[in-house]
Order: sequence, then C-alpha cells, then structure tokens
Amino acid sequence: MCYKRYLLKGETVSKSFAEELEILKARGLHRKMRRIAGSQGSRVVVDGKDSLLLCSNNYLGLAGHPRLAEAAISAVERYGTSSGASRLVSGNMELHALLEERIARFKGTGAALVFNSGYAANSGIIPALAGKGDMVFSDRLNHASIVDGCLLSRATMVRYPHNDIAALRRLLERHQTAGRRLIVTDGVFSMDGDLARLRELVELKREFGALLMVDDAHGTGVLGATGRGSAEVQGVLESVDIHMGTLGKALGSFGAYAAASEEIVDYLANHARSFIFSTSLPPAVLAASLAAIDLIDSPEGAALRQQLDRNTVFFREGLSAAGFDTMGSETQIVPLFVGGAEQTMAFTARLLEEGVFAQGIRPPTVPAGTCRLRCTLMATHTEDDLAGALERMARIGRELEVV
Ligand SMILES: *Cc1c(COP(=O)(O)O)cnc(C)c1O
Repeated sequence: MCYKRYLLKGETVSKSFAEELEILKARGLHRKMRRIAGSQGSRVVVDGKDSLLLCSNNYLGLAGHPRLAEAAISAVERYGTSSGASRLVSGNMELHALLEERIARFKGTGAALVFNSGYAANSGIIPALAGKGDMVFSDRLNHASIVDGCLLSRATMVRYPHNDIAALRRLLERHQTAGRRLIVTDGVFSMDGDLARLRELVELKREFGALLMVDDAHGTGVLGATGRGSAEVQGVLESVDIHMGTLGKALGSFGAYAAASEEIVDYLANHARSFIFSTSLPPAVLAASLAAIDLIDSPEGAALRQQLDRNTVFFREGLSAAGFDTMGSETQIVPLFVGGAEQTMAFTARLLEEGVFAQGIRPPTVPAGTCRLRCTLMATHTEDDLAGALERMARIGRELEVV
C-alpha cells in the first residue's frame, strides 16, 4: 500500500519536499490548517471570520459545557497539571481508576482501560490482540488509526468491502488460521455517517470463533436511547468483545478507552505499547471525562441527544430536497458528495466566505473521486442556523454545478 496516493500511476516519488508539495498543490490536495479563535461552539471565528461551525465532532456541545470546565479546574487545583509518568510506573492516579470504573459501568463491561487518544488506542489495542500468525478482518472504510494498528500488528490484514457481510463470510471461510482472528469495524463510519451491521457481525464472529472489536468514536454519547453508542442502537452491547470509544468527540474532553472483560483489559495493560510507553492523561482531562459521562447519563444528556437527532433529520432532509447526495448517512455525520478535489475545496471556500464552515474531505482520507463536504450536526445548532446554511449550500452548489 503506497501512502502517497496522490501520485499517478507510474509516477515515482521525488526526493525533493518542495517538488512534492507543488504536486499536492497542483492536484488540489494540499492541506492547510484553518485557525479557530476563541472556544469551540456552534459558532466560531475561523481565520478571523465569524462562522457557523458545521464540521466539529463536538456533537453535544460539551466542549463548552460549564460542568466539564468546573470539573477540570478543580482537578488542576487538587491534583496539578500532569501525571508525571506512564500508568505502570507512577502515573496511575486516583482519577484514572475512577474514570475506568465509570466507563466499565457505562458500557456494562467487566473493566475498561483509558488510552491517551483514539489513535493511540487503535494503534495499541490491535497489535496487542493480534500478531504474526493471527488475522485481522477490517472493513475497507475503517479509520486510518485502525489501518495503522493492523499494519503495526504484523498480523495478516484482510480488508473486506464496506459493510459487505457476504464477502466477509467468504473471506473468513477462505482464511483459516491456527492463531486468533479479530474482526474490527468502525461503529459509525467517520467519513460516511453510516452504521456497521453489528448484528450480522456478531453472528459471524460467533460462527467463526473470532473476536469483535467496535470503534465507536462517533457513536459514544450520541447513539442509542442512553448514549451507549452504535451497539446499543442495534441491541448487541453485550456481544461486542472490545468496545473502543473516544472521549474527545461527543464527550467534549480528550482520550479514549477500551471496555471489555477484566481478562482482556488486563491483557491490554500488559501488551498495548501505546498504553505502556506513554505518559498517562493529566488530571484535568480525566475529570472532564468523568463529568461528561455523568452528563450523558442525565436527563440533560438525553435532551441533547434528542435535539441532535432533530437537527440531523432537518439538515439531511434539507440537503436531499436541494438535490444533494448524502451518501447513505444514518447519523449526525452527513456527507455532501462532490467528487473532485478542486471542486470540493472551492465549495468549502465559497461557503466560508458566506459564514459557513464545512470542511472538504479529500484523499488520502477518502478514495479519489469521492471528495465530499463532511457536515456534522451539533445539538447546539438552532433551526435558523441550519436553514441559513442549507440556503447557502443549495445556492453555491448550483453555482459550482454540484447539483
Ligand atoms: C477520531 C477517530 C479516532 C481517533 O480518535 P482521537 O481521539 O481523535 O485520536 C479513531 N477512530 C475513529 C473512527 C475516529 O473517528
């Protein structure tokens, strides 16, 4: 697999950084960070311009919630700013244990282990569970951190077509091993907003004696009546072997977790290199995560989820009515299909001129020719906000001949 996917067939890699940057620019694939002033809310100041934010994973607005801020501030006052070491040395503080107990209770598992980020979790968990002689079956649209975890693991990686259960079954039949078999999937696909077919995956993992790991970065806190995520929606919370989730998206904090049996969690703490060889999360972040889970479990959390649902339906139906292709989205992640990279970035730029920030997504994040605006809803958007954005999107979409 060549990570320089912007190179054309037969093109060789240049030795010069400048030349390669020029190629990126010429192909509309050069990325630049936009600067956000102030705090993260449903409106932000982007490169100096007040804009409606339509591409944040702060789905419930918890990143700006006073309860999280208060928890973080009092944790700093009580525990300081750093853990000072990795968990297995001297960085295992009370708050790490409290958060892990809280997560295990939240997900209904025997135990949980906190990681420093979702990226660190996936690149640590997969190589801990699977190595040489083992096999990992991974959905082709899985997040890059899962792909990297598979590559680091040195297990045989078998990528199956997106959500294609029949194809996965054939691959499981064909690829037998004396070692372990792990099926891994995003719960909500991060660039498409559709759901993994978890019920069928549970049947397959039982039939073939495999383990099932679900990365619920975008489902945690948001999906299901109580916010337990994509496995709750599909009624299979108890059948997933490893629940991975992140704390930096809907939960408004930072970090990630694996929730699983006590045995698997103990195993991960002894094998996951991103857990073992990294300074543990600081007190402020842990306290904010604890406050966030309490909020998710409260009536306020339920009301935020309902508002997010209403916003999602309103926005997705508005895009469809304007003639846009929302690519089968079933969640608060609503892609707007464009196709080419340059047209996509022109769309983003025009929207920003009119005060709407919806980031364009290009290769290598998505396959070439499937560039899109990845719109994400927040519970804190108002209907007026969204109606205004829809009007601009429809007008600019026509102008750029997307519809
Ligand atoms: C964001 C994301 C991650 C990485 O999580 P971070 O905490 O941001 O490192 C992993 N998996 C999926 C599906 C994601 O969307």
